[in-house]
Amino acid sequence: MNWIKDFVRPRFAGVFRKGDDTPDNLWENCKKCGEIIFHRDLAHLQNVCPSCHYHMRIGAKMRFAQTFDDGKYEIIPLRDVAHDPLQFKDQKKYSERLKEARQKAAQKAIADNNPDVPKDAVQVGKGAICGIQSIVAVQDFAFMGGSLGMAAGEAVITAAETAHQAGAPLIMFTAAGGARMQEGILSLMQMPRTTVAIQRLREAGLPYIVVLTDPTTGGVTASYAMLGDVQIAEPGALIGFAGPRVIEDTIKETLPDGFQRAEYLLAHGMIDMVVHRHQLRDTLGRLVALLTGQKSTKKSAKKSAAL
Ligand SMILES: [Zn+2]
Repeated sequence: MNWIKDFVRPRFAGVFRKGDDTPDNLWENCKKCGEIIFHRDLAHLQNVCPSCHYHMRIGAKMRFAQTFDDGKYEIIPLRDVAHDPLQFKDQKKYSERLKEARQKAAQKAIADNNPDVPKDAVQVGKGAICGIQSIVAVQDFAFMGGSLGMAAGEAVITAAETAHQAGAPLIMFTAAGGARMQEGILSLMQMPRTTVAIQRLREAGLPYIVVLTDPTTGGVTASYAMLGDVQIAEPGALIGFAGPRVIEDTIKETLPDGFQRAEYLLAHGMIDMVVHRHQLRDTLGRLVALLTGQKSTKKSAKKSAAL
């Protein structure tokens, strides 16, 4: 064999080739302190930065798994609503935006091995928290900024009705940029509709607990997000009606540090408690036991690594 002309091609490429089961992002950067966290560690940490305790935004599947006993729950089917009845168009048609958001959600569901593909921003689950039957609704900021449109409004109403029928408490995790402007007045109508649904729950003597997560703003803050019997917030969550920049531009004043953050709202009596995500499930368990008069069982949540 001529060593100059004939050579055996190195076969290292196969060693470095990415396998199909390798996730795209093995490492996640903390947006607040820049800490680089391994994806498996992050799942164990419930998506909270170990250095600065920044609470990253999470979707419904992870939230349900972290909240219900043993991560077991049943998804409540939601009613379909009219699609784009106003035929709204800005730079893009609303129907196209909705289609894209659904495709993105479907892709994420496939990547997460999640059979419950969300059609809109709010999902509803039924299960037990510390042994007490509860209904949990989760608003996902990743779906069109968690905006409140007809579908999200219908989901909140379904959650309240399901809680009513089951005689169970309702826990609502909010995250929204506000009302879905592409649905105009139909979106704003969800504010009174959801308020009435929550009021019915109250009249039936069933507890309604709100967990405000980052960010909760606009029409959601002006309706069901602020109607809880107990108002909890995750640390550092932005909570308000208009954003701080809009307020500063309007009043021509510089806002104080931490304005509209969970801790600021707690200090000013707007919410009842700020709870770290690692203690959230136990806190909810204690509250539903206290408010329903039932005895709770101290069951551990499903290990986050298996989420
Ligand atoms: Zn951090």
